[in-house]
Amino acid sequence: MNILIANDDGVFAPGIIALAQALKPLGRVVVVAPEAERSGFSSALTLDRPLRPVEIAPDVWAVNGTPADCVYLSMNGLFDFEFDLVVSGINSGANLGDDVLYSGTVGAAFEGRLMKQPAIAVSLAGPNVRSYLKPDDYQQAAQWVHDFIAQGVPELPPRHILNINIPDVSELKGQKITYQGRKHLSKPITSQVDPRGRQVFWIGLAGEAVTEMKTELGEIGSDFAAVQNAYVSITPIQMDATNYAVLPALSQQFSSH
Ligand SMILES: [Mg+2]
Repeated sequence: MNILIANDDGVFAPGIIALAQALKPLGRVVVVAPEAERSGFSSALTLDRPLRPVEIAPDVWAVNGTPADCVYLSMNGLFDFEFDLVVSGINSGANLGDDVLYSGTVGAAFEGRLMKQPAIAVSLAGPNVRSYLKPDDYQQAAQWVHDFIAQGVPELPPRHILNINIPDVSELKGQKITYQGRKHLSKPITSQVDPRGRQVFWIGLAGEAVTEMKTELGEIGSDFAAVQNAYVSITPIQMDATNYAVLPALSQQFSSH
């Protein structure tokens, strides 16, 4: 099996080093990742300048671009062989609920959505995520990803990916299939005046998780709930954001004008 690994924390991030190490027994592992951190880049592609991949170690490539650039290049000409699986991560910090929209970790996985197997985005989540982790801190999560892939990635319809969040706890309780939760409004923006008298802004922190139960789903809870209870959260997500439930009524409303 040829496995492509990308991320949004950069090619030197401890999470990608731990992941590459853990997946090596499964086949040929090729790392293609941004040369520096590109978190929050979602599916952005670089269209205004050339991309220059550099092989900094055998099968480890640094790219002067975005997470999605890395997967795009890898699947469109950088290599003369094909990949069987794309794994993105392991991200430093959760990608739960609304984060999915902004996440470069998820963006890189979506770029691999046309693979034979669903692409996988993996994040290390939880209250204990520290600012500067070492590869060892990702070892439990990386081993979990290895075992998950080794037992066979579940089949999904085309253009779907798996968004996986692994709690940063000493003992994982297990894993749960979850739905994508929601967040409250983000924290207020911070405004300051720079040394040259100009006003600058910091985007606010993300909001808290919305606590909700979708009773129609029975036992299935949100990604937030799983991670809070020390379970690995596995959410199937898709490119198609159409709301099919409102489609007929809305179409009727406009066709009558
Ligand atoms: Mg990141």
